[in-house]
Amino acid sequence: MPEVAEKEIKKVDVDVNKVMADAAQKAVHCPICKNEQVFNHKIHDSTDTMVTWYHCGCGTVFHTQGLDKAVFDADYVAKWFKMKEIEPRLDYFVRTYFGQISHLTYGRKFLDVGFTIPVMMESLKKKGWITTGVDIIPNDYMTDDFATFEFQEKFDVIHLGHVLESIGDPIAALKKAFGMLNDMGVLVITHPCPELLFELGPRAFGHFTDYRERHVFLSGAVIKNIASQCGFEEKYYVRNQDRKFAMWNDAHYIYQKRPY
Ligand SMILES: [Zn+2]
Repeated sequence: MPEVAEKEIKKVDVDVNKVMADAAQKAVHCPICKNEQVFNHKIHDSTDTMVTWYHCGCGTVFHTQGLDKAVFDADYVAKWFKMKEIEPRLDYFVRTYFGQISHLTYGRKFLDVGFTIPVMMESLKKKGWITTGVDIIPNDYMTDDFATFEFQEKFDVIHLGHVLESIGDPIAALKKAFGMLNDMGVLVITHPCPELLFELGPRAFGHFTDYRERHVFLSGAVIKNIASQCGFEEKYYVRNQDRKFAMWNDAHYIYQKRPY
């Protein structure tokens, strides 16, 4: 009997240091708070790919399979144009928020980042704004990558409309937007709302349809914290489920750059 027991002990004898080192190598860390991740769920998405999404305690939901900018092409634009009443939906955003924004800032230089369809720029132009837009999708305004392009001018309003989730480093993008605004300038953000994902479930969270387009969803707490660190003052925040907008189950944020 003692011999058998000794063999069994040898069978489970493992190199603990190696196991720990292997686990550390495989560990996934949150791109925002850097903590190691435990909780995840898998989604079989519209590209027929099984994607593992991690849920960080800091409020970030993300995957690690990488973005594919090649998906942002003419077909992507066509898909949006096919959306029922897309133009009035985009214009609804202008009519809802820009009365308030006009009172926050005296300037009128507006930059739309990742606009896909230039409805917002055209709508604001009619209201007296000087508008331009940047998008990696070929367009008549500025075809370039907001994350890397070096802008030579400053703006009074910058709109990050559903782009933070498609940018490699969303924190760097927020910091960059802060630096590109005039004093008292306004940053407008729309972003998927992971809090609603937890409340409604992935099925109701349409933003998961293609993992190549989006890789990180930041909670309200995370965006507010980063914006505050950048030097933004919150003027408005809402979790949006209103389908008169082009997107829903997202959150809308309006920040003002503090001049001090
Ligand atoms: Zn985190």
